[in-house]
Amino acid sequence: MSAVVYVNGIISDASTASIPVFDHGFLYGEGIYETLRTYRLEPFLFDRHMRRLRHSAALMALPVPLSDAEFLARVRDTMAAHPARDEKYIRILVTRGVGELSYQLDATPTPTVVIIVKPMPAVPDRAFLEGIRLATVSIRRNHPQALNPMIKSNNLINNALAMQEALRAGADEALMQNQGGEFVECSQSNVFFVRDGAALTPPLSAGLLPGITREFVMELAGDIGVEAREARVTPADLAAMDEVFITGTTREITPVSSIDGRPVGDGRPGPVTTRLLAHLRERIAAS
Ligand code: PMP
Repeated sequence: MSAVVYVNGIISDASTASIPVFDHGFLYGEGIYETLRTYRLEPFLFDRHMRRLRHSAALMALPVPLSDAEFLARVRDTMAAHPARDEKYIRILVTRGVGELSYQLDATPTPTVVIIVKPMPAVPDRAFLEGIRLATVSIRRNHPQALNPMIKSNNLINNALAMQEALRAGADEALMQNQGGEFVECSQSNVFFVRDGAALTPPLSAGLLPGITREFVMELAGDIGVEAREARVTPADLAAMDEVFITGTTREITPVSSIDGRPVGDGRPGPVTTRLLAHLRERIAAS
């Protein structure tokens, strides 16, 4: 694996980077993360990712030990240590740090900071040109009063179980519902449904991660005259949807060709999805 990893000030390669077993990120899954990517070797929407990182941290009373400028400097140092010149995948993690086997906050006085930099995996063109397959899964998204999906938590068991169920069904991504049966998001991405030209995405209040790409796409839809708004969507509404797409840092806007084996629209990327993706790419090119 060609990765370079920063751990609390020390940069090394993937095979030697390690954290102590008594780190509560490992023991209890108590930590948060952000996934960013570069375009032309510049981290994209860095400030927005920092804002969400701090929000995740606040929701679990986790002190964030660095300023945004300090994070950026460490990201740049870690990127500089990566030999390849290709675009980067960047994962920033903050955990409670090392301490006794106790849930008391003072057991872990020093948070751990990890930055992973590796080549950005290429998303096959086929995904954008033909779309991907979603499967609805039996695993429900965490209830906000149990483990708030707004916390971008290192504890990804809920997401992993959902994705593994989708993979078993032969799909590329898992479409998840909340406890009330409304669609909320996918295991690693947000979801939009297009009906009568409007792009609808489940409301944050339904219990989902506020995706940076979701937010960005909702803003830029207006530039090209596409109405984008939050709306509750249930399985009964699916048949009326003309298009479906997912959003995420690494997936940009990816069209969905089928859900549970049933084609969405005519099974090919629709006009709203295609226009939004083209506009997103223009904005990226101009950034
Ligand atoms: N939902 C979940 C559960 C995710 O893991 C991700 C990927 N980080 C997203 C949505 C998309 O978020 P973003 O656009 O910030 O990458």
